[in-house]
Amino acid sequence: MLWVQGPGDRKDAGTTAIRHERVTHSRGPRRPPDRWLATGQAAREPVRVMIRTAFLWLSALLVLAPRPDEGQWLPQQFLDRDWEELKARGLTLTKDEFWHPERGGVLSAAVQLGGCSASFVSPDGLVATNHHCGFAAIEQNSTPQANRLRDGFVAATREEELRTREVLYVVRRIEDVTAKVVAAREGRSDPYERMLATEATLRALVVEGEKQPDTRCSVATFFEGRQYLLYHRTQIRDVRLVYAPPRAIGEFGGEIDNWEWPRHTGDFTLFRAYVGKDGKPAAYAKDNVPFRPQHYLRVAKDGVKEGDLVMVLGYPGRTERYLSSFAVAERQGVTWPRREELMTRLIARLEESGEGDPALTLRLTTRIKALANVQKAARGQVWGLARNGVVAAKLREEEHFRAWVAADPQRAERYGSVLDEVIALDREAARTQVRDLVLGEMLRGLPFLRAWLDLYDALDKVPEDSAKVPAPLAAPLAAPALAADLQRVEKRLAGVLFEEARRLPGPQSLAAVAALGEGNGDQLAERVYGASKLASSEFRRELLAADKAALLANEDPFLRFARALAAERRAITKEAQTLAGRRLAVGPRWIEAQEAFRGKAFYPDANGTLRVSVATVRGFVPRDGVLYTPRTTVAGLLEKETGQEPFANPPALLAAAKERARSRFADATLGDVPVCFLSDADTTGGNSGSCVINGRGELVGLNFDRVFQNVVGDYGWSGERSRNVVVDVRYLGWVMESVLPAPHVLQEMGL
Ligand code: ASP
Repeated sequence: MLWVQGPGDRKDAGTTAIRHERVTHSRGPRRPPDRWLATGQAAREPVRVMIRTAFLWLSALLVLAPRPDEGQWLPQQFLDRDWEELKARGLTLTKDEFWHPERGGVLSAAVQLGGCSASFVSPDGLVATNHHCGFAAIEQNSTPQANRLRDGFVAATREEELRTREVLYVVRRIEDVTAKVVAAREGRSDPYERMLATEATLRALVVEGEKQPDTRCSVATFFEGRQYLLYHRTQIRDVRLVYAPPRAIGEFGGEIDNWEWPRHTGDFTLFRAYVGKDGKPAAYAKDNVPFRPQHYLRVAKDGVKEGDLVMVLGYPGRTERYLSSFAVAERQGVTWPRREELMTRLIARLEESGEGDPALTLRLTTRIKALANVQKAARGQVWGLARNGVVAAKLREEEHFRAWVAADPQRAERYGSVLDEVIALDREAARTQVRDLVLGEMLRGLPFLRAWLDLYDALDKVPEDSAKVPAPLAAPLAAPALAADLQRVEKRLAGVLFEEARRLPGPQSLAAVAALGEGNGDQLAERVYGASKLASSEFRRELLAADKAALLANEDPFLRFARALAAERRAITKEAQTLAGRRLAVGPRWIEAQEAFRGKAFYPDANGTLRVSVATVRGFVPRDGVLYTPRTTVAGLLEKETGQEPFANPPALLAAAKERARSRFADATLGDVPVCFLSDADTTGGNSGSCVINGRGELVGLNFDRVFQNVVGDYGWSGERSRNVVVDVRYLGWVMESVLPAPHVLQEMGL
């Protein structure tokens, strides 16, 4: 998927994570088999072949049987769903109330915050999301002395709300620009040219769209380049922290419980969106005023129970549901295991870096948490792909597909080679997959190095040697922040990553690292970082004040390395664009064939755009003989209490728990305050913080995770094990009333 200006996935921060499960089976009417058998071509086939193909086709029908809650639907697609069926399940909203392309509706309360999802929950721009989505903002507002991450935070008044670096996007309008993009690349036979033309058109559309006042645009690619949508969004740059529970609540269970059920995590945080006095988006200013959203969610008073209809509205980051068996096998055998190993080493290094330094340890918490999340997810991918036999299932599906194509001359002509073409491209991509993984981690994990690479790229585009470094690029490099942890953190991480690079097989090797000579990763990192003068701000300032020629000639070992890697990255990018250009010639046809093969109700892979998932509150059977019920309570939370992190509840919670049966947030049927619940929604990374609403459009919870059995769900939804984990809004109410009280915020939320 190609995103212009798209934010990454927060919880999977630091990865271009490719996660997933078994083959996708989408629902919808299928072409009846008898019509298919009646085609002239099939009638001429020998009987034996006919019987075999008929058998394959019938079993394909069974495999592809409709699944009620599968799908991450685009807003327009969602409106086209069978509304009567949804009404029968408990939806009372009309289509217009749910989403109107011009007037918004309930769906317009769902916003994007960093790589997460969030939603408006008051007329004064109060925003609810996950604690793990607000984690960085809380950490940045914490010190070892005033540790808001540990103790939680309540702004007693609006003046006390804390400034953050968060940015929030509200979708205002979605425009189909497919025709323009496709026209711009038509007739271009060279794949690189085709990709460049596509990218240039997307950029031009963004520039054009942003001529409207206060608008930020992005174009998203759907269905492998078959459709393009332009999102007109309001960008809110003044986002303040209003409420955070103590970490022991917001992250209860830590990495042990992460991706697991039963769950007892109070994964919520509240922010407020601010705009200028004129109501227009503005940078932070003390006298900015709360944003008034077009729609905000009211909080449900009566909670959920098993079997209820719920809907998840948010911004799922990435799925790969239409992948070939070859590509899935590659993920399972190479990419995911390598990613897990790499995460393990990077985490160990970060932990070492912070040892004996509480301030640095605090600063590294967010990064460690993000890496640990990916580490466990990678483990889940490898486990799930194997356990569910995804590759074998994909192979079977491909066999059905080939039979279906061969059975009709028109299909054979249009799609006869498409699967082989896709696999050929996947094979090529696989050749550099590990190198791309390592390079990707270098760019994410070594921010100082990355900033220099970007600088050299920018200079590469400037013809004159006397050109000065543009101020926006020079400023962060000259400032102390980026270089602050150069020797203590970045050099150590570089040691791990250079070692990984050294281990790359020949054709994948990174020449810039190879050119550093003999030695292990740490020795190479010492040669680049240890021997450099760049830690000195004065040296950097002087350098950045010079011109392009001076920067190209400087022989500081770090700069020499950065120049070599920047040039190599440019060559790699060109290779990737060429491959992407070739995919553009195949992908749309592949998807078209998949749609025809699978049936009408067909949704695109997740790509960080606004989606709706319909679901039922329900438990599941994680393994033979074990049944997970779908709701947890404070009783279960107390059972997990050990007094040790990550299972140590704050004393205020333990005290309040004694009185909880009388709380208005207790559930009558459970006889307790509910904490989390499961549903079978179709979600992925990026859906964290998504509002979960009932059939009346009221907030019942915040999505924050999936179960371990569903980490691999990105390869396909399954009725048996696709379960997402939601924190019940009544737990939020109880914590904010009885544990770390914020009565004024509850009141604002109508509670
Ligand atoms: N925990 C994920 C997130 O942060 C949600 C998921 O992967 O299901 O977006």
